[in-house]
Amino acid sequence: MKNDFTRAYAQQRDEQDALAPYRDEFYLPENGIYMDGNSLGLLSKRAEKALLESLADWRELGIDGWMNGRHPWFNLSEELAALNAPLVGGKTEEVMVTGSTTVNLHQLAASFFKPEGKRKKILADTLTFPSDIYALKSQLALRGLDPNEHLIRVDSPDGRFLREEDVIAAMTDEIALIVLPTVLYRSGQILDMKRLTRAAHERGILIGFDACHSVGAIPHDFHDWGVDFAYWCNYKHLNGGPGTVGGLFVHERHFGTTPGLAGWFGSRKDKQFDMDHTMTPAEHAGAFQIGTPHVMSLAPQLGALAMFNEVGMEAIREKSLAMTSYMMELITEYLSPHGFVIGSPTEPAQRGAHLSLEHPEAARICKALKQHRIIPDFRAPNIIRLAPVALYNTFTDVYDVIMTLKKIMDDKEYEAFENVREVVA
Ligand SMILES: *Cc1c(COP(=O)(O)O)cnc(C)c1O
Repeated sequence: MKNDFTRAYAQQRDEQDALAPYRDEFYLPENGIYMDGNSLGLLSKRAEKALLESLADWRELGIDGWMNGRHPWFNLSEELAALNAPLVGGKTEEVMVTGSTTVNLHQLAASFFKPEGKRKKILADTLTFPSDIYALKSQLALRGLDPNEHLIRVDSPDGRFLREEDVIAAMTDEIALIVLPTVLYRSGQILDMKRLTRAAHERGILIGFDACHSVGAIPHDFHDWGVDFAYWCNYKHLNGGPGTVGGLFVHERHFGTTPGLAGWFGSRKDKQFDMDHTMTPAEHAGAFQIGTPHVMSLAPQLGALAMFNEVGMEAIREKSLAMTSYMMELITEYLSPHGFVIGSPTEPAQRGAHLSLEHPEAARICKALKQHRIIPDFRAPNIIRLAPVALYNTFTDVYDVIMTLKKIMDDKEYEAFENVREVVA
């Protein structure tokens, strides 16, 4: 079927979409189009049900909800780890649902950054998410190391993409730890995690990945690639709810590593309530938990993650790529004449699940989109990110969003707004 740039073509693609039934599982904005699933995924009926069940357990069981609830809270993190693990290509014991992205990075850097002799530096990049840089700088400072000297950031030649060969060239014998994104949050570029992991290990360096923008968007093989650790949030593509508990992966070869930030929930479960002042850590990724899990924030994931396991990441990836490819064709046809530049990889294998559209008037174009009940997201100074989500967006959504953007530009609707970002962008 060839794209003939009609809405009928988009509707035809939707009719042939095997994932279409999942759209009804979500609460979609009324008369609107949600394109921000890479920032905060939408609520599903299953996630809502799971949360309400945990609330009911609290209401009916009080403290006994820990052991006797429908999904006993004492094992909830472990139960969810089993649902999270297939999405990152980890063994169940290598994954834990705990903490948040930034807290998990702190935990993993505290556990795996071991400056010694000549190797005292951490390697990151200039395009990574700021929180990761703040965390790594504070981890260096906590060891008495100067972040200005000991945090090395690989630069990007064009401000959009990183080159793996540049990253590899920066893997010197002064580097103790590498922390990189799996998918860059602005451009959506996928880094070649397998290649980078091999290169790091050949040089005796540990490597960890921030998978916030890839989990639920693309398949991973963290175990087989030999990645040392990874961490991610479950509120973006995985639809676990605002601020829901994050995830971490620790390769089984590191089981037995003493957690840098210890707490009683990292104990072996049968030992935890011995209340001994000497900790007996869990023999798997569970050792990196710290304190009591945030149960009401975990619960929605029971419903949200179930869907990803049901469908499988391959099918999700296939539809996601079909939608971003289609969106790129429409952008080239209708928006390039208006000065939009696609700031995402054109090569499908290198593209995550969102597209980055660059335009000098991006801030107010986003405001005009919102006026049309279309929810994009804006990244200063000039990026509109659009995420057509496999489980709840349609090809027709993609068509309507791009045609609305065309109208906004044709009629200069954006001129009615100020070109500045809002507080939460
Ligand atoms: C969303 C995101 C974060 C956010 O971290 P939190 O601790 O959940 O606030 C960190 N890194 C990346 C790459 C992200 O996309």
